Amino acid sequence: MEHKSSKALADYAEAQGFTVERNVADLPTAFIASYGSGKPIIGIMGEFDALPGLSQKAQTTKEALEVDAPGHGCGHNMFGPGSLGAAIAIKELMETGQLKGTIRFYGTPAEEDLAGKVYMARAGVFNDLDVCLDWHPSYLNEASVQSSQAVTDFSINFKGKSAHAAADPWNGRSALDAAEFFTTGINSLREHVKPSVRMHYVYSNAGQVPNVIPAEASVWLWIRDSKRSGVAEVAARMKNIAKGAALMAGVDYEVKLNSGLYEILVNQAGANALQKNIAFVGPITYTTEEIEFANNIMKEYGLEANGIDGSIHEMKETSKEAVGGSTDVGDISYIVPEISLGAVTAPDGSPWHSWVVVACGGMSIGHKGMLFASKSLGTTMVDLFEDATLRAEIKKEFLERKGAEIWKPMLPDGPAPIPNSKSK
Ligand SMILES: [Zn+2]
Repeated sequence: MEHKSSKALADYAEAQGFTVERNVADLPTAFIASYGSGKPIIGIMGEFDALPGLSQKAQTTKEALEVDAPGHGCGHNMFGPGSLGAAIAIKELMETGQLKGTIRFYGTPAEEDLAGKVYMARAGVFNDLDVCLDWHPSYLNEASVQSSQAVTDFSINFKGKSAHAAADPWNGRSALDAAEFFTTGINSLREHVKPSVRMHYVYSNAGQVPNVIPAEASVWLWIRDSKRSGVAEVAARMKNIAKGAALMAGVDYEVKLNSGLYEILVNQAGANALQKNIAFVGPITYTTEEIEFANNIMKEYGLEANGIDGSIHEMKETSKEAVGGSTDVGDISYIVPEISLGAVTAPDGSPWHSWVVVACGGMSIGHKGMLFASKSLGTTMVDLFEDATLRAEIKKEFLERKGAEIWKPMLPDGPAPIPNSKSK
């Protein structure tokens, strides 16, 4: 679904004089746009994928632009162009001889459902960067020093034998029984894991009709924790639960790894450099009409209306436990030092992954945030190109925090499971 967006960004970068490599890591919508030569090499990432069913007009009441079509409920329509804008500003400074080195824009696909960056990372395309940057639409401006949750995504498939559920049930072995034993086990496991662990599942296959004993059943399960090592510990126990469940039901089973993400490795030195620049570029100011738009849309959604917070706050402290949610930026942060920005594109307290974010991302509130992000990342990259001491400080902290951990992609072997691009 993101072919048009990816192409628009790649074509624009090419028209601006970047060398564009498409189909990176065999992902049809992944690309890298480079300009300049030699060291330092600074990377900046841009996403462009959307979410299903969230199509929305840029207005304060809920109405799809196109019924049942996807929409940018995570603001990635601004993420890609905002980052590319910053890369282009750096290219212009290189053209006039004011900066030296290489600027690389990474068009990173399918963040929401495929973890596209991990496939790109597995191909080694981030390895030679000095620093990598990204940003994300938000309702707070911040140089982020927060980590994210590590996650691993599994499918647990049970295979039994079908039979008539009334005539000869003794001949059947129910894969659904096993799936139910499995989720019972997972729900008991909850009591015996650390409070930072999250486990969520759905039955992705639970049989088709009641009068056939299900020969196949599947549970789709995600396990999260503040650190990769914590997830691995719980995953090992989960595998035993799957084995036990299969044994009880007398069926076969398979635990299939779909993908996994690392937590973000924070870089305080990088965040400090970014903080200086957001204070230089910001705050974002809004017109009376924009504040009215923000308040009306929040009331319409059923939430408290507190305007839009375009101010620049003091940098927060890193929380001990990661906040809920995971991102494939985490993997990149284990390969090279990573700097992350949050920029305001929606009203204060906005419900994320909702039509509110889509609406604001299609009008001036979102566009102002995108330009703010672009300028803040651009000025930070100027510092990174010019200041070798800053780069060394960022690298030193990265190596210290990373310690002995060796990044290993949590992906099944073989190419990415790319969905049919024609499907809706
Ligand atoms: Zn997002």
